Amino acid sequence: MKTLCGIDLGGTKIEGVLLAIQDSKFEVIERLRVPTEKEHGYNHILSQIKKVVALLEEKSKTKITTLGIGTPGTLDPTTQTLKNSNTVCLNGQPFKKDLENLLGFSIEMANDANCFALAEATLGAVPDQVSNAQVVFGIIMGTGVGGGVILNGKVLNGRHGIGGEWGHNFLHESGGPCFCGQTGCVETIISGTGLENFYEEETGTRKRLKAILELYEAGKDPAAKATIERLITYFGKGVASIINVIDPDAIVIGGGVGNIDLLYTEGVESAKKYVFNNGLETKFLKPKLGDSAGVFGAAMLVN
Ligand SMILES: [Zn+2]
Repeated sequence: MKTLCGIDLGGTKIEGVLLAIQDSKFEVIERLRVPTEKEHGYNHILSQIKKVVALLEEKSKTKITTLGIGTPGTLDPTTQTLKNSNTVCLNGQPFKKDLENLLGFSIEMANDANCFALAEATLGAVPDQVSNAQVVFGIIMGTGVGGGVILNGKVLNGRHGIGGEWGHNFLHESGGPCFCGQTGCVETIISGTGLENFYEEETGTRKRLKAILELYEAGKDPAAKATIERLITYFGKGVASIINVIDPDAIVIGGGVGNIDLLYTEGVESAKKYVFNNGLETKFLKPKLGDSAGVFGAAMLVN
């Protein structure tokens, strides 16, 4: 049994957890949150993280000597500064080094999609349903699309820290411009936002994806049918390109779009059409850990 500390840095709150871990079994020793208060700036965020660590130590009477932290954005391996964070005051800062200096020990960092993938691969849906999974791909399909690759229980960060960033693979021109500067990214087509944009272009009316799905199920709205079929077709094409490269044992699909049951039936059938193999044994799984995946995955970074 070992004790791991994880921190999930969000835009509004910082969550901390102490987990007791043995194999894929775990117990929460302590879990708490403090507000990020990002409006007070970079140094204040660092001190709020230190406060979470101090509170965890005090409540659990455990000395913390290392931790994993999930952040919005990615640490650039070359410059060692944070990039692509929506908490913009973190961008360009040597966040890991500053935090290590403040805490007095070394830490591990990963972005939220990687933490999600790691948690589900090691403590969540995967050990529950797949035996001896070596390669796992975790996807978050929500307002955007993120992803993380887990190899033998470790995050694959890669040369630029962008390992798993499937959301910005090219999928089809019809997705149009993406915030990243490219066009036709996976995210522009099969994110919740991308699908809602498509429905709006077809009808002139904007609806939430949940409402579009209800119209699809009712079977009377051709634009809703086209939108959900677009999701199924392009989910299959997009995910097949991942399968052809890393051939995962399991794919865990989180985020609002990941709740759509059709992905696990027709979506998988669609992927089968495009995979370079006659069959498809990869398991497509719903996540198990819910909101806890981020902070649990952060803790597993130091496992
Ligand atoms: Zn993009």
